[in-house]
Amino acid sequence: MSELDQTDRRQFLQKSILGGLVITSTSEVTAEIDQGVKEAEVTQDVDVLVVGGGTAGNIAAIQAGRAGAKTLIVERGAQLGGTTTTGGVAFPGLFDAWGKQVIAGIGWELVKECVELDGGKFPNFAKVPQRHWQNQVYVNQFLFAILAEEKCEQAGVAIAYHEFPQSIQKTEKGWEVICLGFGTRRRVRCKQIIDCTGGAEVVGMLGLPRLREEETQPGSMLYNLEVANNPGHHQLHRLYVHGADSTNSRTVTRANLTGRKSVLEKVRKEKKRLMHLQPETGFRESFRIVGETMITVNDYTKGRLFEDAVSNAFYPVDLHTKGGVKPKPLKPGTVPTIPLSALIPKTSRNIMVAGRCVSSDRLANSGLRVQASCMGMGQAAGVAASLAVAQKTTPLEVPLEEIHRELKRHGAIVPGK
Ligand SMILES: Cc1cc2nc3c(=O)[nH]c(=O)nc-3n(C[C@H](O)[C@H](O)[C@H](O)COP(=O)(O)OP(=O)(O)OC[C@H]3O[C@@H](n4cnc5c(N)ncnc54)[C@H](O)[C@@H]3O)c2cc1C
Repeated sequence: MSELDQTDRRQFLQKSILGGLVITSTSEVTAEIDQGVKEAEVTQDVDVLVVGGGTAGNIAAIQAGRAGAKTLIVERGAQLGGTTTTGGVAFPGLFDAWGKQVIAGIGWELVKECVELDGGKFPNFAKVPQRHWQNQVYVNQFLFAILAEEKCEQAGVAIAYHEFPQSIQKTEKGWEVICLGFGTRRRVRCKQIIDCTGGAEVVGMLGLPRLREEETQPGSMLYNLEVANNPGHHQLHRLYVHGADSTNSRTVTRANLTGRKSVLEKVRKEKKRLMHLQPETGFRESFRIVGETMITVNDYTKGRLFEDAVSNAFYPVDLHTKGGVKPKPLKPGTVPTIPLSALIPKTSRNIMVAGRCVSSDRLANSGLRVQASCMGMGQAAGVAASLAVAQKTTPLEVPLEEIHRELKRHGAIVPGK
């Protein structure tokens, strides 16, 4: 920049500030693409395909990548983190129970790094809180999404945003999945799939059984009126969107239109400034899989230690209805567990799920769906899928001790060990 340019710019900035306008600075970077932009058809061979890069999905992918599996995430949105970031539910819980940490691993590593980089605070896990939500960890949703991308890159995980699977075929070696995005048709050949779409959309495409309630829990649109968003330090306001459903582009569009319209009504009625609005509704419930094992509310509230448990979970039974929510805390000392077989659709091979679609009855699911538990499931699925690739077998046939050993090697807490 010439000296004259700099003087002009300084004068312009001064005028702008005096005029009440503050001009922000600009800087520049270059986005490089390794595949030609002219080709609409792409073919990719990977070991593990993770569909949905949300709360569970990005952890599953980082784990699979770190374990040496060639991994791709296909995510319909524009960033990682799902409900944690795009939904704005940036207060993951619960990593602790009854005075000690019960879920750790890659999810915790990401949360911890995010809080530290953001100058945030941690709850004291050694102290049992009066109300469960007091031990949720506040994260800066924007930083969280970028850190997740960085961890994917470091683990060699490829990311395909704005894409979703259109069709799936079984092949001799695994699967062929056609994914579509604007201007892109991607043929993915993979050995294992981890469905982390929230509502088990890939499992549904394969015609495997899923469960769904007549009335599902409401979603929420998160926003702030009058008060600026202070990410990592405050929760946003929530507007219940009844009927919000994450199943397809039509239902998601409908939920977003309904939520935003209602926020606009509030702005007009309350005569307050709209200071923050998430780009998408947060979805609490849609489909759950019917897995090799179904976690019942009895298993959950009794803290059943499943033989093939791969992760802990902890949260009250927490069902939102039209009448609101009355969380039912677990009895002191209870720590529910998640078996590997609840992540595997019944009679299937080489496809797993992780996240809120875990095989469970509705009430068990209302507690299991929270973020730390989803992250724990994601890591377990990432380990099982990558070991299955290495051993040329299916996740259920990988010896459990090897799954436990690998989980511990990557910092996870294995139930009962
Ligand atoms: C309003 C609200 C409040 C909540 N409060 C709490 C709380 O206080 N504490 C807590 O821990 N938990 C809370 N939860 C629960 C928790 O946030 C979610 O259950 C959890 O984040 C779900 O994780 P997931 O990985 O299953 O799904 P998500 O995080 O939703 O990720 C799914 C991802 O898959 C992508 N996707 C979907 N379909 C496709 C497709 N076909 N192709 C490609 N990508 C696809 C989505 O874009 C998304 O990124 C709350 C949830 C909501 C909605």
